[in-house]
Amino acid sequence: MDIHVKKFVVGPLSTNCYLVYEPLSKDTLIIDPGFHDTKIDRFIEVKNLRPLAIFLTHGHFDHIMGIQHYSNSYKISVYVHKFDHPMLLDSIANHSALFGTSFIFSGPEILIEGEESLRVGPFKLIIIETPGHTKGSICILIDNLLFSGDTLFVDSIGRMDFPESLPEKMEESLQKLAKLDDKIIVHPGHMGSAKMAVVKEKNSFLRI
Ligand SMILES: [Zn+2]
Ligand SMILES: [Zn+2]
Repeated sequence: MDIHVKKFVVGPLSTNCYLVYEPLSKDTLIIDPGFHDTKIDRFIEVKNLRPLAIFLTHGHFDHIMGIQHYSNSYKISVYVHKFDHPMLLDSIANHSALFGTSFIFSGPEILIEGEESLRVGPFKLIIIETPGHTKGSICILIDNLLFSGDTLFVDSIGRMDFPESLPEKMEESLQKLAKLDDKIIVHPGHMGSAKMAVVKEKNSFLRI
């Protein structure tokens, strides 16, 4: 299957929102719509894409504040790990209150219970639980693409000093990612993407 990825950098924290789409069927997943951005809307419109679902790598405000808009616009559900789901319902927990926007989400959502394989339209997704940055952080593997949220960046890892962080779990989470194939392309929640081989070389946190 031919899977395309389009990245949009959105919001004040320069968060990466990804559209993952299959150009023939137009089926599309929206990963981490941090903010409603008309650039995303326009791309969907111009390419005539059909969003099927929203996936969240975790519950921080800079990854979720577009979910109400995209969920309403396309009548689609938001997949979120059950441990980060409470953050969608609480503007203090998701930190949006700190930024003066008090975002909460009223659904619909589908809870990810653990490590599981999912099928959404033509997409096969493998959910990898990677607690550390937050309790319910996940990495999403679709074909040879890994959406790593704020768990893994090309040359660093996510913060672990939030109340919702689990620093004691991060090493185990990173070890899971370090076992993934070198050919996988890592698409993080912030900054650039790279092949796993490059990430393993550049990122000392994966050499554990
Ligand atoms: Zn985060
Ligand atoms: Zn972030």
